Amino acid sequence: SPKEGKKAQDLPDIHYEDIGGLGRELDQVREMIELPLRHPEIFDRLGIEPPKGVLLYGPPGTGKTLIAKAVANEVDAHFITLSGPEIMSKYYGESEGKLREVFEEAQENAPTIIFIDEIDSIAPKRAETKGEVEQRIVAQLLALMDGLKGRGEVIVIAATNLPDNIDPALRRGGRFDREIEIGIPDRKGRLEIFQVHSRGVPLDLESVSLTTDEEHVTEGEGVTDEERRRKKFLEPYAAATHGFVGADIALLVKEAAMHALRKTMEGIQMDKEIPLEILETLRVTEDDFKAA
Ligand code: ATP
Repeated sequence: SPKEGKKAQDLPDIHYEDIGGLGRELDQVREMIELPLRHPEIFDRLGIEPPKGVLLYGPPGTGKTLIAKAVANEVDAHFITLSGPEIMSKYYGESEGKLREVFEEAQENAPTIIFIDEIDSIAPKRAETKGEVEQRIVAQLLALMDGLKGRGEVIVIAATNLPDNIDPALRRGGRFDREIEIGIPDRKGRLEIFQVHSRGVPLDLESVSLTTDEEHVTEGEGVTDEERRRKKFLEPYAAATHGFVGADIALLVKEAAMHALRKTMEGIQMDKEIPLEILETLRVTEDDFKAA
């Protein structure tokens, strides 16, 4: 149940099952973020401080933003996004005030997740920045994090592609002192991401046949032949897309679907109603994937 006063952009519609290939990372995220937000009393009982900040680092398009949104959704936390570059440009001159405002809003609406994307752009190593503005913003951010009182009901998740570029003071105890690497997915991870992004896509499953070995092997475990066929259909693309990140795979699936659509729409006038039979026969084939 969304809380009143949440802005539309603060209501991420992302869940754990929308994230492919990051099982181990998600377990860490849940322990570091979900547990203290849900059960701050456990940390009281243990006599240890719950984390205030978690740094997600890794290449662009690997799911860092998705993770932050999914956790927020899962614990029904208030969610505030801040973009590093935006703080530097849009709020230039009032960046510190903006940060204070955000932390206030966070405390008032706790439990809250503050997500700071591209934190390296506001908090580069102070020694390396001549900019007085950056230095003041980092100092402000540190002060706000140090000032977070209480029992882990506000957690700041920061994301960066350049973990070595951020001010080391931010990575000290009590600040962003937990780090999780969100790397480039391997073949198994890519397959899971293909499965997530093609969930609602009508694939041409007639082109794949299951061997008798593959059929019904895990009957009773809730895996259907259709799911096995979908998986088999997608496996070659997972194998052939070495180096692709989640964002690349999402785009590839979309392109393949658009390719299928264009073929189907050939000879159909856009301004006429589209016959239902045609929509029902719409399939995304191997050729569409190859074309994409
Ligand atoms: P950036 O550093 O560019 O912000 P990011 O790591 O935060 O990158 P996201 O914004 O989470 O990347 O991902 C961009 C899009 O790519 C997502 O909206 C999603 O469609 C797709 N995507 C990325 N990673 C995954 C994943 N692991 N599983 C499913 N989809 C993914």
